[in-house]
Amino acid sequence: MKIIKEAQGGQRAALEEGDLALIGALARKPLEEEEIYTFSVRLCDNEIDRDNERFAPETLEGLSGLFVGKSGIFDHQWSARGQTARIYKTEVVREPGRVTRAGDEYCWLKGYAYMMRTDSTRDLIAEIEGGIKKEVSVGCRVERAVCSICGADRNQGDCGHEKGREYGGQLCYTSLEGAQDAYEFSFVAVPAQPLAGVVKSAGSWREQVQQLPGGDRELKQLEEEARLGRKYLEQLRGEVVRLALLADGQLEGDVMKSAAARLTPEELEALGASFARRAGARYPVKTQLSYGDKAARPSEADRAFLI
Ligand SMILES: [Zn+2]
Repeated sequence: MKIIKEAQGGQRAALEEGDLALIGALARKPLEEEEIYTFSVRLCDNEIDRDNERFAPETLEGLSGLFVGKSGIFDHQWSARGQTARIYKTEVVREPGRVTRAGDEYCWLKGYAYMMRTDSTRDLIAEIEGGIKKEVSVGCRVERAVCSICGADRNQGDCGHEKGREYGGQLCYTSLEGAQDAYEFSFVAVPAQPLAGVVKSAGSWREQVQQLPGGDRELKQLEEEARLGRKYLEQLRGEVVRLALLADGQLEGDVMKSAAARLTPEELEALGASFARRAGARYPVKTQLSYGDKAARPSEADRAFLI
């Protein structure tokens, strides 16, 4: 699954010992310090982003090796003249004391890039120094998009949990796991629109499907089915919790809700049937007929069989 995210770039970075050797190896020729300009780029981090996705800390470790040697392109005007930067080293920076919304220690992937100092890059370097080219878009490929609630891989099908919603008090987000590849990064010159520069792979496959004959209609139908499926699952979860509380008066509602949020539809159906039997044994049918005495219990029992 291809992932493209925005990042931040354009911090001048001083050369450290050994850096010239790394750069020389990538450039396939020895370079002097005066010939190059080096800067750092904030490639990605493990915070849950506005798409309710995050890179797992281990994914950042995996990506750190994959980004070395990858090129950064600037906007059309620059890349047309062959101006590129290249990442020569990376590091995962940890910030102890800062905790992400997922409860992990905050960490981010820092890339160090170099570019040649020439007449044609002088203005570009000035722009980076001046903070104009701040927005960076990075692309990579990960193996799995894991649901934080049930652990299902969203690439394998819809588990019914919606990103951004809460289940039993827990935020549902997607954890991007298993770094597979890293692609070139690109500088976006326009920082005016902070949401610009974010392209999602979901957008591209959707567009591809829509262009197929009948694709748009089929996609709409699938989406409607998925919506109905989610609705059913939501109702099923509520039903199982209700039956569980009826079957066992000692159960905590919140605990049961949080447990139900993690179950698959098949598990929920099986559990619901079992709780329904136990609830039925606890509140036999005759109580439904004896209105008046023990007023609270029959109404509870009635509610259990409402759909
Ligand atoms: Zn899920």
